[in-house]
Amino acid sequence: MTRLGFVYNLDTCSDMRGCMMACKDKTRSFLGSHYIETFTNMSLEYPKPNTYFVPVTCQHCDNPSCIPACPKGVFTKRDDGIVAVGDTELCTTCEGKPCVEACPYTAIELDPVDGKIGKCDLCADLVDAGERPACATGACLTNSIMFGDFDDPTSVVSQAVSAWGEVGLSFQLKPETGNGPVNHYLLSKKTWEDMDKLYSPAWHNEYK
Ligand code: SF4
Repeated sequence: MTRLGFVYNLDTCSDMRGCMMACKDKTRSFLGSHYIETFTNMSLEYPKPNTYFVPVTCQHCDNPSCIPACPKGVFTKRDDGIVAVGDTELCTTCEGKPCVEACPYTAIELDPVDGKIGKCDLCADLVDAGERPACATGACLTNSIMFGDFDDPTSVVSQAVSAWGEVGLSFQLKPETGNGPVNHYLLSKKTWEDMDKLYSPAWHNEYK
């Protein structure tokens, strides 16, 4: 089996958003949308301020709740683990947007013009050509993004999760959902906060 996904090193992520720019350049996602977004965990309590940044994208879940939520079968799970976006012409922009509601990671974006959906597909076309997703090809100046096969014990992602996990420093977002998120996060010396407690500048812009 193959389970492709990302590991993010939050010790080194500096919120420079090279990943977001590379993604935007590659995917040309809808105006105002991002298939990867950096969230902030911020506590400025003296004497131990606790700030770090968390890139969030589709988690390419083992049990993706977006797939059964879509009545048109737009999403598919590939043999390599990628949760792909199929024919978006099938998307009928359903009332209530069940796929968006079903995703616990806010990974599905809506086109503000026609209401159709889009999300990270791990740059499946690049992966099929033997390349890496755009965000994981040097766009991150601190090399905080690792990409690979979690089912290959020799891959960089497996090695990182194994080494950091042994000492309790490897995390997944919302494991309690049962979705089985594939992506992992590494963080030391700070307090891990799950996604619901993170701050997004996009939310601020939306509600201010
Ligand atoms: Fe689907 Fe959301 Fe999981 Fe991605 S993160 S596979 S969109 S449920």
